[in-house]
Amino acid sequence: MNFTTSKKLHNEAKDHIVGGVNSPSRAYKGVGGGTPVYMKQGKGAYFWDVDGNKYIDFLGAYGPIITGHAHPHIAEAISHAAYNGVLYGTPTKLENTFAKMLKEAIPSLEKIRFVNSGTEAVMTTVRVARAYTGRDKVIKFSGCYHGHFDSVLVEAGSGPATLGTPDSAGIPETVAENVITIPFNDLASFKQAMEHWGDQIAAVLVEPLVGNFGIVEPKEGFLEGINTVAHDAGSLVIYDEVITSFRFTYGNAQQLYGVEPDMTAMGKIIGGGLPIGAYGGRADIMEHVAPLGAAYQAGTMSGNPASIAAGIACLEVLQEDGVYDELDRLGERLENGLLDKASESKIPVSINRKCGALTVYFGDETVENYEQADASNGEAFSQFFHLMLEQGINLAPSKFEAWFLTTEHTESDIDQTIEAAGKAFRAMAK
Ligand code: PLP
Repeated sequence: MNFTTSKKLHNEAKDHIVGGVNSPSRAYKGVGGGTPVYMKQGKGAYFWDVDGNKYIDFLGAYGPIITGHAHPHIAEAISHAAYNGVLYGTPTKLENTFAKMLKEAIPSLEKIRFVNSGTEAVMTTVRVARAYTGRDKVIKFSGCYHGHFDSVLVEAGSGPATLGTPDSAGIPETVAENVITIPFNDLASFKQAMEHWGDQIAAVLVEPLVGNFGIVEPKEGFLEGINTVAHDAGSLVIYDEVITSFRFTYGNAQQLYGVEPDMTAMGKIIGGGLPIGAYGGRADIMEHVAPLGAAYQAGTMSGNPASIAAGIACLEVLQEDGVYDELDRLGERLENGLLDKASESKIPVSINRKCGALTVYFGDETVENYEQADASNGEAFSQFFHLMLEQGINLAPSKFEAWFLTTEHTESDIDQTIEAAGKAFRAMAK
């Protein structure tokens, strides 16, 4: 494949945009370098780059694009919003419609607030939990990404009963000292941390089904255990469902597992590809948010008609019969095909899949926590990534990310991808 124009644009970008990218994960640092491909058009399950190469897309823009690129129903809603005025700074009827749609699908959202990104949504749930409980500390789980605000860019200390350390320059130790990070799926460590800090914990922040060190499901009893132990200590449970909202079912991961948090943060899919975030939960907690309560949160762009209209249109597409069954069917076909091809070439891989999202880990070990995901072979993934890109298969450039199917992928796209993977595995085995 010829990437000449992408290379030229990236050299130019580096003169103007820090690192040449507007989000670090796009820079191919996680796959041993290379020039990021500059896409020009997306339609359905496909991308075309600036050099005219065509790709089957499994990046899905890191999650939001579940209905494929430029879905006509969503494009029409955005176009209508564009001609009707994209930003009013006043309430609109659309916001009520969308809030009701979300509440119907996710009953734990007694009250909702729309914001502009997943980061904003999670950040505010943490602030509200602190306001509600009058406590400062938060527990989170290693490897889970919750956005880029200070309290969640904190690394684990040396054990469950130790405080965190900053995971980015520019974050004060005093912020990190209020965050405890423990391994996912490890209820014993969670209980130990709660025994130590329980009466100081405002909230436990968890991705109920992890999307950020690959797709990792909670072990049986893990989410129930978190609820019981947290609530016994007077702490709140916050689900970060930024990736998992409407990804696996018409609703959230909390619908899959039948466990309800006190608050939920959402983003990605609910904006139909436009910037959005939302948070919500128990009414008595949400009433602590301004203008009713003392926890402040505001936004010029919040609830803008374009994002809300795109979100409504996206959920309307997802309400169609059989959408998630088909994602699951194609996901299973892809998983089985990849496993067959890897075993033919004797490349050790393990795959975690839920419905139309999966992660291929290079290694034998089944992945249930971040340590195991981190131990998977990054060099092998990098090689695989570039071999797939050369064959027109666009994956996320990191061994920790998921492949996301869309409603627009066909059986033939999946079969073509399996064939490409077969070739990649054979090249790797040489
Ligand atoms: N929470 C989770 C689980 C995420 O995966 C992400 C982004 O990938 C975020 C929060 C942050 O969302 P955003 O990038 O919209 O700020």
